Amino acid sequence: VLSARKVRKHFGELEVLRGIDLEVRAGEVLCVIGPSGSGKSTLLRCFNHLEKIDAGRIEVDGELVGYEPHGASGSRLRERRPRDIRHQRERIGMVFQRFHLFPHRTALQNVMEGPIAVKGRPRQEAERRARELLARVGLADRADHYPAQLSGGQQQRVAIARALAMEPTLMLFDEPTSALDPELVGEVLGVMRDLARSGMTMIVVTHEMGFAREVADRVVFMDEGAVVEAGSPAEVFTAPRHDRTRAFLSTVL
Ligand code: ATP
Ligand code: MG
Repeated sequence: VLSARKVRKHFGELEVLRGIDLEVRAGEVLCVIGPSGSGKSTLLRCFNHLEKIDAGRIEVDGELVGYEPHGASGSRLRERRPRDIRHQRERIGMVFQRFHLFPHRTALQNVMEGPIAVKGRPRQEAERRARELLARVGLADRADHYPAQLSGGQQQRVAIARALAMEPTLMLFDEPTSALDPELVGEVLGVMRDLARSGMTMIVVTHEMGFAREVADRVVFMDEGAVVEAGSPAEVFTAPRHDRTRAFLSTVL
């Protein structure tokens, strides 16, 4: 589903991504862990072309993200037209630390909005589907609540339903529970676990090591803009090969 090759990104002098290689197959759950500032969020934003990469290539569903397939070899890549970039983004659902719901719309309206406005779905169909998704995240009885009337965990679950409403092939999560009160973390992780079991392809940046250990097919440890170590949860958590991984794990486990 996703392939990243030698992806580089810098902000001014700072090299934030130093040649990232990553492969995610359909149905796989990849958890990305690493210290603050290691480039995890930037990497996710590159997958969506919210950040432009300086070198390398990213493909989603076999299509180059953000850039036109090259002309002559060695020539600089040309950026895609904005509407094509938007079209590519529709395939990728993204859930952030903060929920970004529309405050003046109910949970149901938040979930319906994308399919109607972007995909041109008929209103009735969009509503039926939105109610199904709200039920799936355990919020069937909160459809008519406004974001301010929902807890943080409930808002985050609406945000997940809203992303799913666009029928993405890939879901990106950037620390979706780190802004939540501790007692609300479990309900959001539970929804994500169900989603993983349903076969969704997911990349999850998280500090929840228990979740990563249980749900991830593969864990990637990033530090200073590079993938230091990648492997099964058992490999990375139980028998890390690198000192930096061990040092990081000792601070979080
Ligand atoms: P955290 O765990 O704290 O979320 P992270 O691994 O997600 O960290 P990033 O947010 O990707 O890290 O940031 C990586 C580095 O890039 C940091 O040093 C950050 O300050 C820098 N950075 C991120 N975005 C920008 C930007 N728009 N302009 C300049 N520097 C940036
Ligand atoms: Mg981050």
